[in-house]
Amino acid sequence: MRGDFIKRKTKPAGKDVNAWDENSSFWSYGSQDLNTSVPNASSPTSFFTFIPNVPYFDLRIYRESKVKSVIKVHSEDMYRLLENVHFDGDYYRIKYIRSEDWEYCWDLAVRVQFFGKMLGMTLYPKRLVSQKEKRVVYRSMILVNPYQLWDETLVNKFWNLQERIEFLIARILFHECVHVIISLGNIMPSGFGNTDIYLEFRKMLEVSVSKKLSTEHNNVQFRLWNLVLFGASGSESEEKLLERVQEIYEFLINEKYSNQKTGKSFYSPSDNKKIARKYAWMAAVKAGGSTQVTRRIWQVEARRLSIALKELFDRIDMELSNMGFK
Ligand SMILES: [Zn+2]
Repeated sequence: MRGDFIKRKTKPAGKDVNAWDENSSFWSYGSQDLNTSVPNASSPTSFFTFIPNVPYFDLRIYRESKVKSVIKVHSEDMYRLLENVHFDGDYYRIKYIRSEDWEYCWDLAVRVQFFGKMLGMTLYPKRLVSQKEKRVVYRSMILVNPYQLWDETLVNKFWNLQERIEFLIARILFHECVHVIISLGNIMPSGFGNTDIYLEFRKMLEVSVSKKLSTEHNNVQFRLWNLVLFGASGSESEEKLLERVQEIYEFLINEKYSNQKTGKSFYSPSDNKKIARKYAWMAAVKAGGSTQVTRRIWQVEARRLSIALKELFDRIDMELSNMGFK
């Protein structure tokens, strides 16, 4: 059984990368304690919120143009993506292409608000198909939660509150946009979504499944397979379960890439151990949780995944730097 799925290569881009939107899952960029619920003092739609020591902080002090110019310094591709998007929660068209008889459009909405302890998240694209007009529209929504405003390092770096919030929003948005750009590359008809970011991500994914890294890769796949079995309802086909393993695997590499890219651009080096720990836990949740086993067994397996993942991440870095990528 094990040998079977290990041989499977990552699916080619563009086929069924939509898998997440069926169950309204999302790529998320969580902080250390994701399971903390939304504080009840803040209403999700309000710009005002209660923060200890600073009651009724008005988030609207940030200047959208400043956030965009911070992003522009780090990536032209991303700046172009966001150029016409206002951060008001409405959808704006960021991409439009015509391929064969069909039109493909991508709409993006960005919203800045406090909501618990997740730095941000990207709702995985909703796909709207109109057979009549021969048009496919993808809609992504990014939520940015700059709740770490009083983080000590950030405060020391930016005494000015307005600058601090703009930097923080830019950094979170950057991370989430990396996910959007990768989705664009995966989903748009081949060639249309190619950007430096997308190609770099594909490179990382490719290296991670290469022969040289097969031990590390297999270890991660093995843990993922166990977690998917632990979370299965019992009625899924083996095919379905293997697909889930692949999706979660790709999610993990996607997060490594996004964290690393953002860290590099915003001068905060990423740490494989930290990333592995954070996302192994999320992967275990995505796999379905502890449906078939006790919570303790599930937690042990999630921890083993985190260890295997760190080893894989380290090897990826080593391999990429041997190949001349920084
Ligand atoms: Zn992320």
